[in-house]
Amino acid sequence: MNELSPRAVPATAGCSDTPVLRERGQREVFCGLTGIVWLHRRIQDAFFLVVGSRTCAHLLQSAAGVMIFAEPRFATAIIDERDLAGLADANDELDRVVSKLIERRPEIKLLFLVGSCPSEVIKLDLSRAALRLNQRFAAENRHDLRVLSYSGSGIETTFTEGEDACLASLVPTLPALPSTSPNLMVVGTVAEIVEDQFRRLFAALGIDKVGFLPPRRAAEMPPVGPNTKFLLAQPFLAETATALERRGASRIPAPFPLGVEGTTAWFTAAAREFGVNPQHCANILEAPAARARDSLARHRVTLAGRKILFFPDSQLEIPIARFLSRELGMWLGEVGTPFLHRELMAEELDMLPAGTFLSEGQDVERQLDRCRDSAPDIVVCGMGLANPLEAEGYTTKWSIELVFTPVQGFEQAADLAELFARPLRRRAILKV
Ligand code: SF4
Repeated sequence: MNELSPRAVPATAGCSDTPVLRERGQREVFCGLTGIVWLHRRIQDAFFLVVGSRTCAHLLQSAAGVMIFAEPRFATAIIDERDLAGLADANDELDRVVSKLIERRPEIKLLFLVGSCPSEVIKLDLSRAALRLNQRFAAENRHDLRVLSYSGSGIETTFTEGEDACLASLVPTLPALPSTSPNLMVVGTVAEIVEDQFRRLFAALGIDKVGFLPPRRAAEMPPVGPNTKFLLAQPFLAETATALERRGASRIPAPFPLGVEGTTAWFTAAAREFGVNPQHCANILEAPAARARDSLARHRVTLAGRKILFFPDSQLEIPIARFLSRELGMWLGEVGTPFLHRELMAEELDMLPAGTFLSEGQDVERQLDRCRDSAPDIVVCGMGLANPLEAEGYTTKWSIELVFTPVQGFEQAADLAELFARPLRRRAILKV
């Protein structure tokens, strides 16, 4: 689609060998606790108990927005001064909090103990706590309840790593694939509406044994074994992919299902792996792809020829940049990503316009200077940078919206484009 933009470069040569600027300076990112906000919506009988400080509780509250639930499905067990001073036995306190929670909320089937910086500072071993609690609940005949742990902490992390750590903690507990016939696993949180669309298309392709990780309910965990092939629906799941491979599963290499091209290639990769006739696959995908292409046309008017710059935040930067440049004619400024997993990103890098400026990690002041020099029309960044950049006159888009909004698949392609077109339209109106 780059021919629509006089400023865009041809999208043919790819970026596999493009040098990447590596920066290791000050970062402006949220920690992995943020993932709880979308994970708790996805697994409807799970509860996330952060073992952390008031700061952690505030972070969750602000990331989640103002949410008032009769029965919330996440909370923070506050580590106070007595715990930090070693005056209280934090394990006893934790057991007491969990007992009260489970007594009051018997519908919880999966309890995640989520580690934080404070729990790590006092060396509270949450994996041992989970083991101890599982044994206790089993003795009480609560075999329907499982306790797991993972860490959401970190200054050297980024906010989507929380989902990776959560899903990786689930992998060892997945049931073994009972048969020798292959199954397909879609890995990464997707909205229910997206799951339903994906299931319909896989069924039309003749791929019927399909599971989703994470599923909607704890009892629906997909089985895994050497005959499992998995497709990543999110690009930030390197640890989960490794854990699945340890259980014998193999990843289907594919771009991510963002935009028409990405979604078509994603389904086509699965179809190839499951021996679906290529012509049948093309026939099935043709109509939804054509509808999605049509729906993008109105956004192209706003986006083609505009320059976009990405600060490293969500790990979705490269696939989104690929979509915006190839299908909407946007011109790419710097595309920053917190981590560049070359193996998971290989197909995406192949599709990026040659010569795209890629950076990994952050030195925020230097990147702000580069941003000012490059004068983009729109900047994708974390919430901490958006306000100061708006104050300087830049149009911004919060990267966190890319994980809160259903964006995968054909029917969501226009919604994904709208996320970038809306702030540009708003800015244009304000200027009038
Ligand atoms: S960075 Fe650490 S202390 Fe801050 S909210 Fe995250 S886990 Fe809590």
